[in-house]
Amino acid sequence: MLKISLPAFNLHSRVIFLGPPGSGKGTQAPLIRQLFRLAHLSTGDMLRDAVARDTAHGKKAKALMDEGHLVNDEIVVDIVQDAIRADDCKRGFILDGFPRTVRQAELLDEMLSHHNHAIDCVISLTVDDELLVQRVTGRLIHPPSGRSYHPLFNPPKCEGLDDVTNEPLVKRDDDTEEKLRTRLHAFHEKTAPVLQHYKDKVVQVPADDGVQQIGERVREALGRIAQQKMGEY
Ligand code: AMP
Repeated sequence: MLKISLPAFNLHSRVIFLGPPGSGKGTQAPLIRQLFRLAHLSTGDMLRDAVARDTAHGKKAKALMDEGHLVNDEIVVDIVQDAIRADDCKRGFILDGFPRTVRQAELLDEMLSHHNHAIDCVISLTVDDELLVQRVTGRLIHPPSGRSYHPLFNPPKCEGLDDVTNEPLVKRDDDTEEKLRTRLHAFHEKTAPVLQHYKDKVVQVPADDGVQQIGERVREALGRIAQQKMGEY
């Protein structure tokens, strides 16, 4: 088992979780954020919130999200830029579902470089497409927190209820097989090239088994990055 000394948890890391829908980004990020004391920024959650509040961004994003298409780079970058400026991101953050295009990655790098910051690590979660269909079509989420569950792969303690708040879980409108196929197409065509953009920073994490095993691999990868950063201090 990997041992990480406590100061390693205090390093300001800027991490991207990159993977297709259902690869476990939204399940792992809340667990990892606590351990490494990072903020968790999910563009999917932020966009769903904008749609629910019917903001100007939400109005533009809704139809695209309903069909499983990507939202315009400008809208997403604008949302992320605001979020990254917030105090809770000063200690570092996990970006979940962003960047999803090379253009978004370039704009993110530019945004960070204004503060002499850069992305430290990209955790690339890899899963076979057919397993993703099973995972996503059975998925239930807790909208306020973004926590997600699955009756077989990650069951809640009480059926249909969030483990922390006991509030009801819901199915996402875009978690149908048809929309997932569109989302997977967008991932392979537009998001996979982001790995090449960050090629020196990518850590591949196989993510086709259980939540605990995947979590262990992600923690090990981030622990190594934290130790490397400590060496640079
Ligand atoms: P997610 O919750 O990450 O699966 O995202 C749900 C939906 O929000 C996606 O299918 C897109 O329509 C939209 N979305 C989330 N993040 C982005 C992004 N970085 N760029 C473009 N669209 C996004």
